[in-house]
Amino acid sequence: MGGEMGTVTGREGGLSFVLAFPDVYEIGMSHLGLQVLYGVLKGVPWITPERVYAPWPDMEAQLRLEGGSLTTLEGGTPLKDADILGFTLQYELSYTNILNMLDLSGIPFLAAERDAGYPLVVGGGPCAFNPEPLADFFDAILIGDGEDAVLEIAQCVSDWKGEGLGKPALLERLSKIEGVYIPSFFTVNYDAIGRVAQIVPLRAEYPGVRRRFVSDLESAHYPTTPVVPFLKTVHDRVSVEISRGCTRGCRFCQAGYIYRPVRERSPERVLEIVEEAFGNTGYDEVSLLSLSTGDYGCLTPLIKGLMDRYAAQKKAVSLPSMRVGSLSPEMAEEVRRVRKTGFTLAPEAGSERLRSVINKGVTEVALLENARAVFSAGWRVIKLYYMIGLPTETMEDVQGIIDISREVKRQGKLAGSGGDVNVSVSSFVPKPHTPFQWEPQISEEEIVDKQRFLRTELKKKKLIMKWQDAPLSTLEGVFARGDRRLSALLIEAHRLGCRFDGWWEHFDKEKWAQAFENAGVDPRFYHRRRELDEPLPWDHIDCGVRREFLLAEREAAIAGTPTPDCRAGECTGCGVCDFDKVKLRLNEPVPFDTYAVEIKPPQAAELAVRIRVRFEKLGRMRFLSHLEQQTLFIRAVGRAQIPIRYSQGFHPHPKFSFATALSVGVESYAEYMDFEVDAGFSAQNLLDALNGTLPAGIRLVEAAEISMKAPSLSVIMEKVRYRVTLPEAMALDLPGKIAAFLALESSPMRREKKGKVVEFDLRHELYELTAVGRALEMVVGRGKPSEFAAAILGVTVEELKDARLEKLEVLFAETPVVEAPVAGAPAADAGEEPAAQACDAGAVL
Ligand code: SF4
Repeated sequence: MGGEMGTVTGREGGLSFVLAFPDVYEIGMSHLGLQVLYGVLKGVPWITPERVYAPWPDMEAQLRLEGGSLTTLEGGTPLKDADILGFTLQYELSYTNILNMLDLSGIPFLAAERDAGYPLVVGGGPCAFNPEPLADFFDAILIGDGEDAVLEIAQCVSDWKGEGLGKPALLERLSKIEGVYIPSFFTVNYDAIGRVAQIVPLRAEYPGVRRRFVSDLESAHYPTTPVVPFLKTVHDRVSVEISRGCTRGCRFCQAGYIYRPVRERSPERVLEIVEEAFGNTGYDEVSLLSLSTGDYGCLTPLIKGLMDRYAAQKKAVSLPSMRVGSLSPEMAEEVRRVRKTGFTLAPEAGSERLRSVINKGVTEVALLENARAVFSAGWRVIKLYYMIGLPTETMEDVQGIIDISREVKRQGKLAGSGGDVNVSVSSFVPKPHTPFQWEPQISEEEIVDKQRFLRTELKKKKLIMKWQDAPLSTLEGVFARGDRRLSALLIEAHRLGCRFDGWWEHFDKEKWAQAFENAGVDPRFYHRRRELDEPLPWDHIDCGVRREFLLAEREAAIAGTPTPDCRAGECTGCGVCDFDKVKLRLNEPVPFDTYAVEIKPPQAAELAVRIRVRFEKLGRMRFLSHLEQQTLFIRAVGRAQIPIRYSQGFHPHPKFSFATALSVGVESYAEYMDFEVDAGFSAQNLLDALNGTLPAGIRLVEAAEISMKAPSLSVIMEKVRYRVTLPEAMALDLPGKIAAFLALESSPMRREKKGKVVEFDLRHELYELTAVGRALEMVVGRGKPSEFAAAILGVTVEELKDARLEKLEVLFAETPVVEAPVAGAPAADAGEEPAAQACDAGAVL
């Protein structure tokens, strides 16, 4: 529905830059990269940034049924009308969604078929490091960091637009931007057995593309006013990237190679970002993100600083991806000051031998010691991550996963606290730009056998296992090391109906098998071992790490020889750094209490007051569910720094309550809430503070202090006045229909929801009914306005989808005795026409 806090609306003209995430909103909104780019674009007045996500199949079906186009959330812009359509390429199994989003927008799949009248389709993200399976679809693909390059691309398109030149001129100019790959400037030849024989640059001055670097994160843009979703997303919190890159050198990990070198943000800057982002979002949790958070130079002093500032406000810090050995006792002590988030350890392989092969220098002794420390510090569950199918793996290594997981669980008992262990097992997919890029991927059958073995044995040890389904890993492996010929396979798979392939419930193995057959592609061809002298489809994409280094690392893997982390001192010669701009940027260690602040106990006033408010919920906000509305107010209270009272307990909640839940789709001028705040904070303060931070469409109209003993809203609420404005074609003979309905003795209503049946009589719940022009106005007890209107008109509720439903007034049984109410400023533009007449519901205040 759009309209979230942090979005940009109302920018006319300029350059329309749509950021597209080829998966659902809940996942896309959890992705920090997209928030960063949105923030960068938002800062430029001549750019209109907008977002679009992949529609879920029910929405897709509706769009196809109505012949509608996929549009942006901000302005409802059809994607075809954008100047730039930028897809983030996070996961190979969302490729069919990209095609689907183009298809739903009437944009031809193939770049060669799109002239200057279509948006420029660009991509970026980790999968861009082997862009070849998507080469035919994209006009340009950014390789590497996007903060600066995205603006250069926007400027280039803007200039070109003004000059009215053709698309070839634009592509020429874009190719001059560092990190931008133009697939159509290369052609690929294949040998007799189908391997890449040669990647031929079509322009002598453009032989390949080197990855784009942001050399210093300290000055890089950070979105401290991110878009705050209404609904619960996968990662629903402030996320701060504390460092980028990892040089530990785990040989399977693509991120460890394509994001080098390590660039840390200073703790001072992180604290600044967290402070601003908490204030702007109202979130109560911050996640410190990095490929290996535990390696961040000043982690413990930083956490101490964060905890000192926010623990009393019940704000939490979460630390994903902790490395074995990185949880110091001081850190555990700091993090336990607030609620605990899960603790994850990633041994990756079950034996010390195999961990040496992959350069994951973790000994069993260290792992177990760490696990015991984590359980002792109060965590109840440890998640362990492993992979199967790693190069040189034997069944002994697989057995090792069981043995070591059981031992980790035993550490809970030894720590005296007990504790659970969840085992997560994924299948190794060889990725480009890693020392294992030449290695074969194990077959689907072998994955299934090993998973079955692990599941059975782990169950015997009472350990819970999670795994990724084998066919998904198999498909991921095809695209991860695929070439240009796979575009035909993707088009065919999309034609057969493949969508959301990363979602097990949508992945369709039969359709994919059919697509492979129709496209004449053998998946095993892409899983095979690559010869060391064989050109690889991504050879013209330079991520900065030298091929010789990868080959040497491959040799070291076979020999089980470790390669040290260069952050500890010595450069191991991967080739990424120029030691001028591109170099390791690490924080100097600082004493534990460097960022400590004096902890001020919360100064809550002894006395509380209760404030009752009436608010409006108009325009697109009518689509907020009750739960989402609740989250919206929790965040708004946080942003506005209302001295709200909190409930007691493990996860305290702000004390406010709603009169009732309004049905989704109904606009309202008469929603009521009670807040409990510190004495001294007036109704006017509350009104002003909240109205300063609520999204357009939600506005507090009036507020008044009420007695702490006043009955709750739900107790005194009796009836509601609604207006249902009908489309012209439905508003025929309203007086006749009203008379017929009023003449009825009874009009039974039966509602079924989540297995519960509710029955009541609409006629008995109706107190007043009149026709005003095209509208039905009614005063009712129980029941939804759409249910009454459907019964009066003799239609289904679905047929009323174009009717406007408004709640005008609540009639209360008694009026609480209160101080004189205060009124809010006029409504912000809710983006839709105001109602013909509002109502006066102020009496209850
Ligand atoms: S060039 Fe040397 S210092 Fe830079 S990331 Fe590579 S190994 Fe580390």
